[in-house]
Formats: sequence, C-alpha cells, structure tokens
Amino acid sequence: MAHILLRHRDIPNINDIDVYKKNGGFTALKKAVTSMQPKQITEEVKASGLRGRGGAGFPTGLKWSFLPDTSWPHYVVCNADESEPGTFKDREIMESNPFTFLEGMAIACYAVGATTGYIYLRGEFWPVAAELDKRIAEMEKAGFLGNKLFGTDYSLKLYTHLGAGAYICGEETALLESLEGKRGQPRVRPPFPATAGLYGKPTVVNNVETLTNLPYIIEHGAMGFRKNGTEKSPGTKIFSLSGMVNRPGNYELPLGTTFRELIFTHGGGLADGRKVKGIMPAGASSSIIMVNDETFDQVMNTPMDYENVQNVGSLLGSASVIVIDDSVDMDWVISKTVHFFRHESCGKCTPCRDGNVWMMHLIDRIEEGKATSKDVVLLKNVATQMQGKCLCALGEFATMAVVSAIDRFPQDFDKKVAG
Ligand code: SF4
Repeated sequence: MAHILLRHRDIPNINDIDVYKKNGGFTALKKAVTSMQPKQITEEVKASGLRGRGGAGFPTGLKWSFLPDTSWPHYVVCNADESEPGTFKDREIMESNPFTFLEGMAIACYAVGATTGYIYLRGEFWPVAAELDKRIAEMEKAGFLGNKLFGTDYSLKLYTHLGAGAYICGEETALLESLEGKRGQPRVRPPFPATAGLYGKPTVVNNVETLTNLPYIIEHGAMGFRKNGTEKSPGTKIFSLSGMVNRPGNYELPLGTTFRELIFTHGGGLADGRKVKGIMPAGASSSIIMVNDETFDQVMNTPMDYENVQNVGSLLGSASVIVIDDSVDMDWVISKTVHFFRHESCGKCTPCRDGNVWMMHLIDRIEEGKATSKDVVLLKNVATQMQGKCLCALGEFATMAVVSAIDRFPQDFDKKVAG
C-alpha cells in the first residue's frame, strides 16, 4: 500500500517544494479554494468519516460544523504538542512530509473560514518549527499561502508557536491558554473551543496527523478515503510501535489492522524466548492489555480501531503501541507512568494534583520493598477515587495503568510486598 501520511517513504525529497509540486502537491488546496464552497469541504470530510488522530477519535467534520457563523474571526489551531510517551508520529510527518501537513492545515482553514492558523509545537520541537517556518515562507513565495490564494479573495497566514515543555498543553484548552501567553492550564468547559476558543473566538483544534489526511480526502473524495480502514474507523493510521519489539518505529497501516500484524509482521516480533505480557496501545495513558497463554490469540486477532480495542480492555488513543514482555514486572511499569503524571499534573484541580503525589508515595514504597498488601489496596483506592473527579483527561489518564496493572497483574505486586 502506498503511503498517504508518510509519503516521504515512497517519494524521496518530498520536503522539497518542487518535488512536492511534481507529485501532485497543492492540487487539493487549489481544488478546495477555487472550486468548492467551505461547507462542501466540511460535508466531504464528514462523509469520509475521518476521526481525530490525536487520541479522542472525534469525527473531524462534525467538530468543524460546531463553529457558529455568527461570531468571527474563526481560528484553526494545530495541536503539534506531541508529548505522550510512546508517540512519535507527528514529528515524522512534520519533519519529512511537511507540505502535505501544511496543505491540509490550509484546507481546514478555508473550510471553517479562518484566515489565520497557528501550529502549536512542543518546546523541544524547536528545530521542527524552524524548518516549518521555512516551508511556510516557501509556500507564501509560491502563492500557496498569503494574499488572494489562486486569484480568489481568500487569504491565509500560518504561524508556528512553541510551547515551553508542558505535557498538559496537549490538552486543547490548556494549549489555547498557552498560545494566548497565559499559564498552560485547562479551562473549565463549557464553553467549548468551537464557540469560545482562541481569544474567545470560535476555534477548531486538530492534530497534525488529522490535518495531513485532508489533501487525500479532497483529491480522492470521501469514498476514496474510505477504501482503507473499517466502516466506523476509516482511513489509515500511523501506529507508533515501541517497547520490546525487534523493529520499533512508525507504521502507516489501515485502521483495523490486527495487533498480530503490527507486532509480528511489521515489528519483527520479540526477542527469542520472550512472550508478550502486556500492551499499552495508547502510550502511558493506557489501561494495560493483559496477554497470557489464554488471551494471546484473542488480543493478537483484535483489529486496532476505535471500537475493537475496547473489547480487550483498553483504548486505541493515539495508537502509540508499547509492547511489554515477560521480563518486566508491571509495578515497575506503573512506577514510570505515576512519576510521569505526577510531574506533568498542572496542579489546577485537587484530585489530580494531590492524587498523583499520593500514588507516587505509594508506588515508591512498593518499589523500595517497604510496602504491605494494604498499600497496594490503598494505591488502587487513590486511583479509583480520582476517576471522574478531575477537571481534564490527564487526571483520568494517570489512573489507567495503575488500576489495570493492579487488577490484571496482581502477582507482580504480591512479589514486591512479600519481599
Ligand atoms: Fe491539571 Fe490534572 Fe486537573 Fe487536568 S486533571 S486540570 S492536569 S490538575
């Protein structure tokens, strides 16, 4: 299958504007701006079934349609704050296939009537931002951005903006706060960004991978896009595969590809003699899927899409698939996730701010061999009491690995408390 999102793997130097143009670059943007009405594009994207690739899987066209026509200006903000441990796909797109991404961003802006768009990148991506700035300048020089695109009345400016190293700014309202120059903390919702987003104006926030799909949808139509993937999860997806596999990396595959194909065909399986013990399909924010002799076939035959991963006790999220083998104890895994979320909790709400600290104290005690079985019960208790009480999803994410590890791998904790 030819790549749609990782086209640079098929076409060398596609980050050169001339090479990009020679390979059909900007024809989708031209078609959109010169021969389609903005609402027509939204309808096409709705019909394609494209779902947000940042993790939530919300239908993209539907998200756009929430912007009211009564309040202007509208903004498009790209969430390029890729920070989930295990996720490294947006960076590859921006570094190696930047024009498809920028073309997609321009199409999204036109579709919602935005004349200004911002790309918010995590602070550590400053070299990526510098390269994107050059590509934006090249597009302006060639007439694909700037004033009166393709001789129409539509004008568009795109800007990059760097964050300052906070994971929470990947949460869309914290991202908007940070973009406005404030402390990056989530907003209380409602209102949602669609009605009151950047500077209080209607705003669409879309992920890099989501936007990169748009040129293909405009060029091939909704039905062309639906040729890959499943009925409810159409299209291809970049799976960031990491952990104990022989060939970690980004793999663009149709949604609905099985865990078996990703891990064993593309990822080359595990080291000799090792077995899969757990899978975190959405990075550090996942419930850990339990894999043993009894569940192996069921898990491996599960299609990776927004519906089916739930059947094995987790979520697809951003499809950052971390494979854990049988040499690893799960208490050690959650000591890593707990420390991560304790560090990244923004501190705005008490359940997450204090809950993460308490989880850290408890898991540290377990790892130091000073805990009793009551501490394991208490750790799960703290985690479950955080659930449903936090202001944003980070608080929930922090508990996922903890609760699933204690429920599904109790023997690993028993070993530690017995010691
Ligand atoms: Fe901040 Fe955590 Fe509350 Fe989210 S859940 S607002 S990260 S303290």
